[in-house]
Amino acid sequence: MGKFVNLFVVLTVIIIMYPATPARAADFRPIKIGLATEQDQIALNVADAEAILDLAGTEPVNVPVPGDQVIMTACDDQITLNFMPVGPGPLLVIPGSSSLVWNQHHYRGGFLISAKNNHLILINFISLEDYLRGVVPREVMASWPLAALKAQAIAARTYAIASLGRHGSDNFDLCPTDHCQVYGGIDSEKASTDIAVTSTAGEIITYRGKVISAVYHSSSGGSTFDAANVWNFSVPYLKSAIDWDQNSPYNQWTRYLNWNELQGLVSHYYPLIGRLQRVSDIVSASDGQLLRITLQGDLGENTINGDQFRALAGLPSVRVQIGVIYGPAPFVNLWWSPGSPYPEALMADNAISGLVADVLTPPWDLPDPWSWLEDKEPIRMVLRGSGWGHGVGLSQWGARGMADAGYNESQILEHYYPGATITDIGNIHMDGSKNNAGQ
Ligand SMILES: [Zn+2]
Repeated sequence: MGKFVNLFVVLTVIIIMYPATPARAADFRPIKIGLATEQDQIALNVADAEAILDLAGTEPVNVPVPGDQVIMTACDDQITLNFMPVGPGPLLVIPGSSSLVWNQHHYRGGFLISAKNNHLILINFISLEDYLRGVVPREVMASWPLAALKAQAIAARTYAIASLGRHGSDNFDLCPTDHCQVYGGIDSEKASTDIAVTSTAGEIITYRGKVISAVYHSSSGGSTFDAANVWNFSVPYLKSAIDWDQNSPYNQWTRYLNWNELQGLVSHYYPLIGRLQRVSDIVSASDGQLLRITLQGDLGENTINGDQFRALAGLPSVRVQIGVIYGPAPFVNLWWSPGSPYPEALMADNAISGLVADVLTPPWDLPDPWSWLEDKEPIRMVLRGSGWGHGVGLSQWGARGMADAGYNESQILEHYYPGATITDIGNIHMDGSKNNAGQ
């Protein structure tokens, strides 16, 4: 325990010694971003580093640096520098007058290197505000209006502190991918997004005094989803809201999957049902959200929810209508509409576009209603949808739409997180590394 207390004291002091961003949230603890895990070796240029410390004991030990370039490896849970064992670590690399570089990318703050299972983990130890400078421009376009950038900065700050310790088993808080939040370090920073971060420094979103789970996505395709309909748990501030995402490039999209391609995907994800023969019982909510679909194979069947199907088919969102084209010519397109227990059957004039030539009335009341298609095989699936992402919480393209219409960041966030308010990070009680997102 003493080791970790000491580690935080050392690192917090170091961060305060090198304050890149003056912020009223400067006393919030630095956060740890896992840049790389399971590394056989890490090469660093340390010519400009102030020092390398081994933090294993109660007092940090200064590690002699054998040159300007070091190659770090792990051996029997000892870290080696240029193949000389220096201690168990973690090692802290303190920046000098210029920023640290790894893999040709520049990072603010320091680096922590720890050994695990004879591999290395590289962690960027950085102030919350400097971290956000490398996040906001990776999540939205720096050319967007300032109110949209500020809304993203506040949401990303809130999401980060509600997610502290998410990768605790590897001793860091967040990863730099869209599993947590995309983070690109100094090379990603832009002047406009820096302004969005610094002008909102310390601002976070709360609901009844608790930090919210500030989930966000690219665009919902017309209206955001209630979390209860996507993730099966209800959150008072993650309710459906009209989305201002009309200018999103993902407002309407179409995907085609050849039937044998779909069969391959189903065999991979759901091997027990055998070879896919048809899809049926496709149920959608009135707002277009795909709720469930039944996959029928030659060995069995499986009903999956919309999110599982989105993952299976690699779709941008769950707001999707499904059509299946049967051939040979004349082609029949079965098209499932929200609210209807059976698909419509449309005669299609070709198998590529599925364009309608005639409307058929299939005998859906027969004991085996599929028998009228017995001389035809499914050829391809047509997927027409809107939106990009899970569709819950803040819509990034919607924030841009509201900003274009003159709304400020508070109005944007209060629209997408109804009932939530913006407050200063100093006004809330943080309990360290636990996720204390309000429910
Ligand atoms: Zn992650």
